[in-house]
Amino acid sequence: MYEELDKIKAKCLKCEKCSLSKTRTNVVFSDGIPNNKLILVGEAPGYWEDQKGRPFVGKAGQLLDKIFECVGLSREKDVYICNTIKCRPPENRNPLPEEKDACKEYLDAQLEILKPKIILICGSVALNSLLPDKGGITKVRGKWFDGPYGSKMMPIFHPSYLLRNDSREKGSPKWLTWQDIKEIRRVYDTIK
Ligand code: URA
Repeated sequence: MYEELDKIKAKCLKCEKCSLSKTRTNVVFSDGIPNNKLILVGEAPGYWEDQKGRPFVGKAGQLLDKIFECVGLSREKDVYICNTIKCRPPENRNPLPEEKDACKEYLDAQLEILKPKIILICGSVALNSLLPDKGGITKVRGKWFDGPYGSKMMPIFHPSYLLRNDSREKGSPKWLTWQDIKEIRRVYDTIK
């Protein structure tokens, strides 16, 4: 099906456009199922992602899987998962502007090839890349924005932020994310 995706992945796996190529163990291109309905864009690979070459496989990734499962979605069947940056920044620091610039062509290609109807923007680094100037994640999470190729984009809290905020009280980050994922499932079900 998505041969173009394989081509861009092959290019990305050999990429040496920025200095992260010198410190990475693996390029982390994507996981989940290529599809034109739902994709999630995270920030950057962390330690485990770098080790395994797959996005969201650490604790935050396990929570992300649970969040999707709550509304009957799974990365194996329904969601394509990638990051704004394909290589791990040392010590998990935020990506530098030149690293984001160097890596932009890969995310742009992923979006152009898949043309997903829904793009979930996971966390503030992805928000800065995909929707700069809209305000911080706390302000914009749960809102729909028009994205590329006729898509709808929704920023959501990053699961590592949820791991640091345990409360499930009304208004807490976890409670808000529960509202967001239900809304995402509602819109997902309207897509043919
Ligand atoms: N956090 C992210 O944003 N992406 C990953 O792949 C892992 C952790």
